Amino acid sequence: MKEEKVVVVTGASRGIGANIAEELALLGNKVILNYNKSKEQAEHIKERVLEQGAEIEIFGADISKGDEARKLIDFCVGKYGRIDVLINNAGISQIKLFTDLTDEDWGNMIQTNLTSCFYTTQEAARYMINQKEGCIINISSIWGTTGASCEVHYSAAKAGLDGMTKALAKELGPSNIRVNSIAPGIIKTEMNSELSEDDINNITQEIPLQRIGYPQSITNCVKWLINDDYTTGQVISVNGGWMI
Ligand code: NAP
Repeated sequence: MKEEKVVVVTGASRGIGANIAEELALLGNKVILNYNKSKEQAEHIKERVLEQGAEIEIFGADISKGDEARKLIDFCVGKYGRIDVLINNAGISQIKLFTDLTDEDWGNMIQTNLTSCFYTTQEAARYMINQKEGCIINISSIWGTTGASCEVHYSAAKAGLDGMTKALAKELGPSNIRVNSIAPGIIKTEMNSELSEDDINNITQEIPLQRIGYPQSITNCVKWLINDDYTTGQVISVNGGWMI
């Protein structure tokens, strides 16, 4: 990493976000790790980071709620005076037939996986525009591009996020703010805990690299995007070649 950045990672108590937040903190960046329900896990990460002589702040906020999402960004700017990188990672998934989806299922999905990114990004963008610099990374999904059966609401939210990425890259580019999506394939986290070993083996056979991914692969892409200076408006697939 070229220089220390002030970074907010949403949904970073577990899985992909936890890996991103911990590694960026250990590299010397000033990281705010957001959690919602998993406070204990967030505290464990903080302890581990502090033990290794680095710094990290944890901040509880349900980012599906506008006031809490905005407070997260304002806490960051209040503490460090700026926000260099926003990583919109928090997300939920649900596998259900389209015809069985309730209004509540649809609303929760769109609110948590898409509208939350409107809240955090709008607040962060206001600061980044003044700074004339910023980097926004949205963690979308392979399903936002290809669509997934029985995950229509998830696919719609992630496709919406990719649309937001492209439009915002155009609007914020003149302020030297880069906006990109990372679209993971299948990554080993609790989000996929419902998949059996057989399911995983079957999926693996469809992946050219013949293996599922780990959060570290997404973190590697995040680090590359933070250091880069000329990539914007892109949906970067990190999926072992599952979708080419
Ligand atoms: P995960 O292990 O289930 O972790 C989800 C994280 O999101 C948790 O830290 C959770 O926090 C947080 N979160 C959920 N709702 C929240 C809310 N309302 N406010 C704040 N935080 C919230 O999932 P993951 O696999 O790491 O997924 C991370 C991102 O990658 C998601 O956007 C997901 O859609 C995307 N993705 C994952 C895969 C995959 O195969 N794993 C593939 C494609 C895309 P708490 O536990 O504290 O509530």
